[in-house]
Amino acid sequence: MKDHKLQVIPLGGLGEFGMNMTAIRYGDDILIVDCGMMFPEPELLGVDLVMPDLTYLKENEAHIRAVVLTHGHEDHIGAVPYFLSEIDVPVYGTDFTLALVERRLEEYDLDQEPRLIHVKAKQIVDIGPFKVEFIHVTHSIVSAVALAITTPMGVIIHTGDFKVDPTPTDNELFDLHTLADYGKRGVLLLLSDSTNADRPGYTESERAVRPRMEEIFNRSEKRIVVSCFSSSIHRIQLVLDLAQQYGRRVAVIGRSMVSVTEIAHSLGLLDIPDGILLRPQDAMDLPPEKVAILISGTQGEPMSALSRVAVDNHKHISVDAGDTVVLSARIIPGNEKGIFRMIDHMSRRGADVLYGSMNPPLHVSGHGSIEEMKLVLNLVRPRFFMPVHGEFRQLSKHAKLAEHLRFAGLEDSFVMESGEVLEIDHQGARKAGKVQVGRVCIDSGSVDDVVQEMVIRDRRHLSEDGIVLPIIAINRHTGRMENPPEIVSRGFAVAEDGSNFADDARMVVTKTVENSNQEEKTDWGVIKEKIRADLKRHIVKQTSRRPLIMPVILEV
Ligand SMILES: [Zn+2]
Ligand SMILES: [Zn+2]
Repeated sequence: MKDHKLQVIPLGGLGEFGMNMTAIRYGDDILIVDCGMMFPEPELLGVDLVMPDLTYLKENEAHIRAVVLTHGHEDHIGAVPYFLSEIDVPVYGTDFTLALVERRLEEYDLDQEPRLIHVKAKQIVDIGPFKVEFIHVTHSIVSAVALAITTPMGVIIHTGDFKVDPTPTDNELFDLHTLADYGKRGVLLLLSDSTNADRPGYTESERAVRPRMEEIFNRSEKRIVVSCFSSSIHRIQLVLDLAQQYGRRVAVIGRSMVSVTEIAHSLGLLDIPDGILLRPQDAMDLPPEKVAILISGTQGEPMSALSRVAVDNHKHISVDAGDTVVLSARIIPGNEKGIFRMIDHMSRRGADVLYGSMNPPLHVSGHGSIEEMKLVLNLVRPRFFMPVHGEFRQLSKHAKLAEHLRFAGLEDSFVMESGEVLEIDHQGARKAGKVQVGRVCIDSGSVDDVVQEMVIRDRRHLSEDGIVLPIIAINRHTGRMENPPEIVSRGFAVAEDGSNFADDARMVVTKTVENSNQEEKTDWGVIKEKIRADLKRHIVKQTSRRPLIMPVILEV
C-alpha cells in the first residue's frame, strides 16, 4: 500500500524569492527538481549566500536518484555545488545549464567527480521509477526546459520558469504542442511558475527591447554602457548586433559577464561578430562614439564592476559627462537603495542613466503574465494544481486563476509553503505534514579576489566564531574619519601569540578607509563592504576563524 503513494515536497521557493527546489517521492525513490540559492537580504549583512537547508534530503540520502535542472538561473542551480558536497547524485540539465553549474563547481573542491548528464529538449530519460521528458520553454535565459515527469501514479508537469514568447529572438519556440499532448492524455499534477500572477495581460516579447536599444545606439554621441544579467544571452546578443550595426566595438567587463559570454559563445548560443570585441584596457583609448561596454552589476552590488565604475574606482573603465548608461534589468525589490545610490554617482559625473520602466521598454520580464499562465493551465488541464515560484500572494492569485478549470477536470489546487508535503494516492490529494526546511548562510571568502574555496558557515556556528563590529565615524561631507575606529567583538577569541587583536583590526580598518576615494568613503554600502572584505581577510589569515563581521558607520 505504501508504494501507491506519491509525495511532492517543495523544499524552497514557495513564499520566498529564490532557493527553488522540489522533491518528488514515490515509495523509496526521490527525484529533485532544481537546486537554487537565494541572495541574502540586507538584514543578513555579513553573509554572502543563502542555501536551502538539506536536513530532509540528508536523512533520505539513500533514496535520492538524481537532481534535474530546468534552467541556469542562480535561484535554480546556485545550490548545486553545496548540494553535491553533501549528497553525491547525478545532475541532469541542458548544455548551457550544466556549463553554468560547472562554472560554479570550480569554486568548490568536491570529493567525487560530479556526474553531470547532458540532455536536450524532447529527450526522455529514465530515472528510477520516473520517466522525465524535457520540454523547451521560452524564458529570459537560453536552453530553459519544463519537465514532464511520468510516475507510476500519473504525470507531473513542472513548468520551471517561463513566459510564452510568441517571437523569441533566437527563434526557439515554446514547445506548446508537447505540453498540450500531455494535457490531452491526462496530467495528474501541474506545478507552474507564479512570479507574475499579479500582472494582467501578456508579458512583452524579448523583441520589444530592440526599439529602445536601437534608439539609444542611434542617438548616443559618446560611450554606451549597458548592464544586464550575465545570463541574459538574448540581451547580450542584441547589444552585440546593434554595436556592429552602428560601428561600435564592445568591451565585456566583469567576471561573470566575461565567463558566461564565453560559455554561450562556445556552445554556439551567442554570435559574436568578427573583430567586434575590445580588450577592457583599450576601451578608453578609442573615440567614445566607437565604444559600447557590456558590464555586470545591475543590482548595485557594492563589489560589482558597475558599482566600481560608478565610484570611479575601476581599473579600466570610467563614465564621463555625455555617456549613456543603460540598466537593462529589473530592480529586484530590496536592492533599490544600492541601485539608486549607484545611479546617483553616475548622474553626478554627468552620465545619462536610463533605468526602470519605459515605453518602449529597456527590459522585459522573463516570466509570463496572467494570460500566459491561463494558457498553460488550459493546455495542461491538470487534475491537481500547485502554484510554485512566488510569494504567498502570487501563489494564491495563481490558484484562483485555475478556478475555471473546475469544469474541465480540476479537482483541487494547493497553495503550499516550503516544507509542506502534498500527498497523492488513489483516494486523491491532500496536505500531509511538514518536513524541515530553512536557510543556511554561507560565507564565500573575499568577493573581489581570486575565488577561494568556499567555506560553509552555518549560523549555528556563530557561537564558535563570534562576531566583530568595527565602528567607524565618518564625516559625510569631507569623507574623513573623525576618530580612530572602534572594534567591538563578542565570542571571538584573541590570537594566541598575545598580539592585540583590536589594535591590529583598527589598523586594517584605518588603512581601508584611507585607501578609498572620496566617493567610496561617502557611500556607506561600498565602504562597509570594503571594510568587511579587508577585515575578514586579515582575521582569517591571523586566526583561521570566520567571525561574522558587521561594520557600523556613524555619520558625523
Ligand atoms: Zn526562477
Ligand atoms: Zn529563471
